[in-house]
Amino acid sequence: MKKEKYIKSYFVKGELNISRMIDDYYDYVGSIIKDDVDISSEEEAEIIHDVFFSVIENQDDLDRNAKFSAYLEDVTRKILAKRFRNNKKIFIMIASLLLVIVFIICFIIILTHKNDNVKSEESVEAVSYDNNLIVSENTTTNNVEQKPEIDSKTTDWNLILVNKDNVVPDDYDFELKDIDSASQVDSRIAEAAQKMLNDAKSQGLRPVICSSYRSTDTQELLYKRKVNEYISLGFSSVDAEREASYWVTFPGSSEHEVGLALDIVSQNYQILDQNQENTDVQKWLVDNCQNYGFVLRYPTDKKDITKINYEPWHYRYVGVENAKFMKEKGFCLEEYIQYLKQFE
Ligand SMILES: [Zn+2]
Repeated sequence: MKKEKYIKSYFVKGELNISRMIDDYYDYVGSIIKDDVDISSEEEAEIIHDVFFSVIENQDDLDRNAKFSAYLEDVTRKILAKRFRNNKKIFIMIASLLLVIVFIICFIIILTHKNDNVKSEESVEAVSYDNNLIVSENTTTNNVEQKPEIDSKTTDWNLILVNKDNVVPDDYDFELKDIDSASQVDSRIAEAAQKMLNDAKSQGLRPVICSSYRSTDTQELLYKRKVNEYISLGFSSVDAEREASYWVTFPGSSEHEVGLALDIVSQNYQILDQNQENTDVQKWLVDNCQNYGFVLRYPTDKKDITKINYEPWHYRYVGVENAKFMKEKGFCLEEYIQYLKQFE
């Protein structure tokens, strides 16, 4: 509605009906303040507002003018506050909408990025899988994503690693058991050892145990004897110790001290040298020892890892499952422990 029309509507017979104008104004303003009008009503209210000002300016009743002015100021303030509230609402709505959009975009970006990562991990796995196919089975793979193919732990009693770097713990305790008149082993392997020897014998072979459990004192004696042998050959004491350590392990670092190792030779050939591998006893043992839980502990191709010369007579008990797995993978004990450690 236009301003002129408003003004006209309050004139009756040329006289301004001010009381009616006030009533209308109150009604309008009241509805605006109650927040139940839309913008167009506000605009209408503004027109009335202007009309009032133009009318009031021409009134001579100062009291009434002052009263109107104060009232109008109050109403104007309220109208502006309402507008501000409306604007604020719109602002909050837009801000919320933007926030939601930003959130969705971030979510999509994160999701896409994650997918990329999964993809790249998959391709790394694929590459390492391919590599595994190419490299020899003897190589320890370091793919920690894989699960171990065997349910063994490096802390299992039968996997205790005893070598130059891992000496027998001071509190290591186990029970000994005789397997013949001169040989003792850890009682937990006695049955398996006896069965292996008996089965070899039943094949017409004649295996002889030349070393089984050795106390640390005995180990020390053997070690000193070997060192002296080298010294008598003209080696310096340092060189003699080094050379001796390839043949006789340093006291505290021999598997014989934990009763899990057996040196077995053929009765027909009892010299501890490489020719031992050509005896029928060793051929049978190498082929079958894993079925009784034993492994040939120091194979010829693992000297760099075991730090022990090839000993085709030293068998170490690790348990049937471990022994078969090690044989299948071509692991010596150090490599097998390394393999298991990556899953622990
Ligand atoms: Zn031995």
